[in-house]
Amino acid sequence: MTIRTRFAPSPTGYLHVGGARTALFSWLYARKHGGKFVLRIEDTDLERSTAESVNAILEGMTWLGLEYDEGPFYQTHRFERYNEVIGELMDKGLAYRCNCSKERLEQLRETAMKNKQKPRYDGHCRHREVSADEPHVIRFRNPLEGTVVVDDMIRGRVAFNNSELDDLIIRRTDGSPTYNLTVVVDDMDMEITHVIRGDDHLNNTPRQINILRALGKGSPKYGHVPMILGDDGARLSKRHGAVSVMQYREDGFLPEALLNYLVRLGWSHGDQEIFSIDEMIELFEIDAVNKAASSFNTEKLLWLNQHYIKEDDPKRVAHLLSYHMGALDIDPTEGPDLVEVAEAQRERAKTLVEMAEISAFCYRDFDAYDEKAAKKHLRPAAQEPLERMREALQALEEWSEAALHEQVEKVSEALEVKMGKVAQPLRVALVGRAASPGIDVTLKLVGKEATLRRIDRALAYIAERAAQA
Ligand code: GLU
Repeated sequence: MTIRTRFAPSPTGYLHVGGARTALFSWLYARKHGGKFVLRIEDTDLERSTAESVNAILEGMTWLGLEYDEGPFYQTHRFERYNEVIGELMDKGLAYRCNCSKERLEQLRETAMKNKQKPRYDGHCRHREVSADEPHVIRFRNPLEGTVVVDDMIRGRVAFNNSELDDLIIRRTDGSPTYNLTVVVDDMDMEITHVIRGDDHLNNTPRQINILRALGKGSPKYGHVPMILGDDGARLSKRHGAVSVMQYREDGFLPEALLNYLVRLGWSHGDQEIFSIDEMIELFEIDAVNKAASSFNTEKLLWLNQHYIKEDDPKRVAHLLSYHMGALDIDPTEGPDLVEVAEAQRERAKTLVEMAEISAFCYRDFDAYDEKAAKKHLRPAAQEPLERMREALQALEEWSEAALHEQVEKVSEALEVKMGKVAQPLRVALVGRAASPGIDVTLKLVGKEATLRRIDRALAYIAERAAQA
């Protein structure tokens, strides 16, 4: 049997971290078992579904690298098929028309509430003839007796009494099919073997199993993933900061860091924290996912992000960084190789946004000096070291780290000062701040022309400062 899993988002908003984790678990399960992963867009709620949301979901999946083998399939393209199945249920007497008025249903609900019972439809139209010509919904004839057992891969055995389930609507008055029907038809037609989804759907599962049975089909295996909470214990929402996957991209996170974070959210393998994608695929076990909800912890995500910034191939980091350089209006092809920049900055940034900001100096002159750094390092005592460096660098033909290092060393020796007395003013002159990669690397990245120009700017600044004193 080929394992087939699916991710079935409703396009009523962006791809949020909860959805991404569900997608990741489904994807991992398929990959681990050499199966197929299907993407299905559940867009039957015409009022709330938007094309932007579809794009946001596809974009999020692509950014995370959760590539699907089939789809995206759109439910709105499948209405004919849903109606065909509804017709089949009607023909077999397993569904019926119902024309109960709103008022009647409201009355039922109120009475149930008063008696502290779960509101449920009382089966009033089960044995009545309702003409197809008058407005009506179609209800599924749910079995009245017996139990439905969900042998959940995460939750274990969960049993539901049929007496607690009512005859749910499978087609609305306007002719549109409802969620429980479309999911059943799709899971059946798409030959889904394992349904991994949020546990807010656990209550739908016995209804879906009953419809499948009515159609003469067995049911897939189910795994209901618990929800994600914010660090304050409330359901994760915008209030807790970013919840959209693409916002994490904007904020400078690496997809591998977010995936690693998400896989560990409610799942563990010993005390291992770092998982490459291949390791996730190898080690992930759906039945080891926690039953309880997990809390989102941004600090830990940042820690993982920093780890991946340091450990990933600089080529990969550079590829992701170029997006953030673009956000600063920097074209990284007009300057040093971004791979060298990523390599030089890997120890210095927790996010790619930070990395882009502290690397802008490689591509353009900075606006103003950091006040504290300028005050401390661009003073009259720095004039001579800077002038000598300018002279030495202007004459330098080979702009390599080794040659640059040698020049800084020579000037310090000639002036009989420690290297820092030369390197620090030079650094502030080049980047505007007191921190940057090694001075040789910094010089290399800035390039000769900009280096000379920025030293002149620093000398002018020192002169002006002296004049004002
Ligand atoms: N479309 C549903 C949702 O976004 C998921 C349905 C399912 O996975 O069965 O919540």
